[in-house]
Amino acid sequence: MVELQSFLEKIKQRSETYIGYPVAIDYNYQEIYPFLDYSLNNVGDPYVESNDMHTKEFEREVIEFFADLFNAPANDHWGYVTNGGSEGNLYGLYLARELFPHGMVYYTEATHYSVQKNIHLLNMEGIVIRSQPNGEMDYQDLEDTLQMNRHRPVIILANIGTTMTEAKDHVPTIKNILKKYAIKSSYIHCDAALVGTYLALLGQNDFDFAHGADSIAISGHKFFGSPITNGVVLVKKSYKNRIGKSISYIGTLDTTITGSRSGVNALILWYAIKKWGKEGLLKRAEDCLENARHLRNNLNLIGVEAWSNKNALTVVFPKPSENICKKWQLATDTEIAHVICMPGITKERLDAFVEDINKEKSEE
Ligand SMILES: *Cc1c(COP(=O)(O)O)cnc(C)c1O
Repeated sequence: MVELQSFLEKIKQRSETYIGYPVAIDYNYQEIYPFLDYSLNNVGDPYVESNDMHTKEFEREVIEFFADLFNAPANDHWGYVTNGGSEGNLYGLYLARELFPHGMVYYTEATHYSVQKNIHLLNMEGIVIRSQPNGEMDYQDLEDTLQMNRHRPVIILANIGTTMTEAKDHVPTIKNILKKYAIKSSYIHCDAALVGTYLALLGQNDFDFAHGADSIAISGHKFFGSPITNGVVLVKKSYKNRIGKSISYIGTLDTTITGSRSGVNALILWYAIKKWGKEGLLKRAEDCLENARHLRNNLNLIGVEAWSNKNALTVVFPKPSENICKKWQLATDTEIAHVICMPGITKERLDAFVEDINKEKSEE
């Protein structure tokens, strides 16, 4: 159809200068295409069988991959393939609320916008904690705020890679603060949407279950890459069992947030994990880090004050002109913008971007 043809051309063209949002573009899921002819639905709990038109056996393998990667307790983990990081965050907060109905959620001002929405949806109470200039939590502000509310259970929404600057809240430091004030009831959810997979592969795993996380959410369509948005949420099974009981219904146990879930998404993640393996995924991450270094250096060379947090694929710099932001589809805050050097974004593309900035600078 002619409408689709012209729309495809437009998308193709716009994808050439898409460097502001965190999605990998180096994937090829052609082997999955034949499954698009079928309605595969993973409705309900991935560990409870339904009819045959699902991919739950693949989904369970995906969950086990992440359980291993994030050091989840061997016999006490559970998870499912979500529609994205936001749903994983919603699930983590939902569990926390079921465990601690009077809990107070603490999250920094650099937190992804979906968290505030989730807190509202769940009718929870939250307090915004200050961030440091690099986007990481201001731990002193957390201490001061906690002290005033120490009679209530504490629910921490830790950012493992903030949206704008890819800053990481330090879970061990947060744990120490909870200890210092003898907080008896606490829950830590890690929003590791973009960075969870590669940080763990790089050995920077101090946000995982072994270091105090009670649940972790990641996005699949970001670092792995996917034509359909997806993600994974991983939690402690003993926590999940408490909510499963209260909403079981005839036939299967619906322990997830949505009803129907795409079976194709589990296949996509399974395929990506199998195809690249841990080594291949680590290599992709290292290539991206090298590209981020390359971009940072080249921007610095032309006088742009670009910087990154440690082990970040995100390069932050002062907001450029409206034209450049539009052309390169940059995500911007009031004063800053960023480029995220995702898998498949080539040095050539990054160089073309720097060239555009340089041209504008010399015309000033
Ligand atoms: C992208 C992102 C989200 C939301 O994930 P979706 O997959 O878009 O739903 C949440 N938190 C952080 C830090 C993110 O980078």
